[in-house]
Amino acid sequence: MARAESALGRVFELARDYIATHRDRPVWPLTSLEALRRALNGPLPAEPASDFDVVEQLARAAEPGLVATAGPRYFGFVTGGALPATVAADWLASAWDQNAGLFVMSPAAAVVEEVAGAWLLELLGLPATASVAFVTGCHMANFTALAAARHELLRRAGWDVEADGLQAAPGLRVIVGDEVHVSVVGALRMLGIGSRQLVRVAADDQGRMRTSALAAALAESDGPTIVCAQAGNVNTGAFDPFVAIADLCAERRAWLHVDGAFGLWAAASDALRHHVRGVERADSWATDAHKWLNVPYDSGLVFVAHPAAHHAAMSMDAAYLERSADQAREPMDWTPESSRRARGFAVYAALQSLGRRGVADLVDRCCRLARRFADRLSADDRVQILNEVALNQVLVRVAPSGGDPDVATDCALGAVQEERICWLGGTTWHGMRAMRISVSNWSTTEEDVDRSAESILGAVRRQS
Ligand SMILES: *Cc1c(COP(=O)(O)O)cnc(C)c1O
Repeated sequence: MARAESALGRVFELARDYIATHRDRPVWPLTSLEALRRALNGPLPAEPASDFDVVEQLARAAEPGLVATAGPRYFGFVTGGALPATVAADWLASAWDQNAGLFVMSPAAAVVEEVAGAWLLELLGLPATASVAFVTGCHMANFTALAAARHELLRRAGWDVEADGLQAAPGLRVIVGDEVHVSVVGALRMLGIGSRQLVRVAADDQGRMRTSALAAALAESDGPTIVCAQAGNVNTGAFDPFVAIADLCAERRAWLHVDGAFGLWAAASDALRHHVRGVERADSWATDAHKWLNVPYDSGLVFVAHPAAHHAAMSMDAAYLERSADQAREPMDWTPESSRRARGFAVYAALQSLGRRGVADLVDRCCRLARRFADRLSADDRVQILNEVALNQVLVRVAPSGGDPDVATDCALGAVQEERICWLGGTTWHGMRAMRISVSNWSTTEEDVDRSAESILGAVRRQS
């Protein structure tokens, strides 16, 4: 016991000290691949080591290779930083080491999912009768939702896909927007629907699915059809027009799935909710908690308006997997995993910590800061903002008076990453290279945005 206590005590100090440096450390580490391998590699340990030494060695060797993704000036991908209460709850989840697969293995974990699930439906304005599952990320959320869709559409066509498989099943058509996230394509691939089988419909200049193109695609067949729309394009932050899409899907009895990894959180804000108008009419929704809700990895969420289909697609039975006799919800009946981390505790803590108002403030603040980024940067006439900054994403392109804008943009991006005041990634938007900013962290301030914008503008000036 003393051993465990001293190791946990040391972890507390290490974690506290690390978190305290978030604001000031170089956002990307100064180490190299070789140095990390040297520090971490070695022969397989032959003998046991003390808990304290294990923790100490790990922290010493790994820390130089950590990226301050949870800090206030990390704008790469779409990355939230864990709220203090959620880190604490996640520590408890590890210390308690609960298996959240079945009620009988952890009644508390099962009930926390039930409660947090109902809170999430209310917060996001989704039907209170929808089923909920806590998965590892939005990718698995897309997979789970689309498995439910596959079950339901084939069931309506008289086919039991769980029993009879897909090889001889009626064809399943999947329509996606041209700007579909790669995760939807990956999830469908695992469900037996290949990337070349997808029907892609045109998107507009912001990446929004064109309704007329969807109507034309839907009209081509009466067969079972899934339509995948998105809330929050990963480059521009744009939203598909859900009211029109939901009308079209209703006419054709198509299953409407929404990938809302970060954009679905607009539903929590009075100021932004109009972006997702109609989204509640979908059949399934996938989102992340580890992005905009700012909980630790790994935490994705899936909601399905047809609980029976969701259950049928995910549940498995074996004699030894004993279900509780009462009305308890069995977490593993709704997810691809069996044994599971109790990730519901951190989501529950996030909602307690922020409340409805806090979630709305977090989302609104990030969008305001994204706008501030765009304003600061576009004040320089060598900078072009490629998207309508309606949410938390900003696409920045360098347009020098002479020279190639793609080259100038990539050089500036490299210089920003090298300076390490902030970190952003690159992307290609409609054939143009761009720097990609995503503001998704609760701790980012105006000062962080101004310092980061200064770093970016400095790099731009050096290119031209
Ligand atoms: C991040 C993201 C995903 C994948 O989510 P993971 O949490 O990485 O599994 C899917 N769709 C969109 C739009 C995303 O931004």
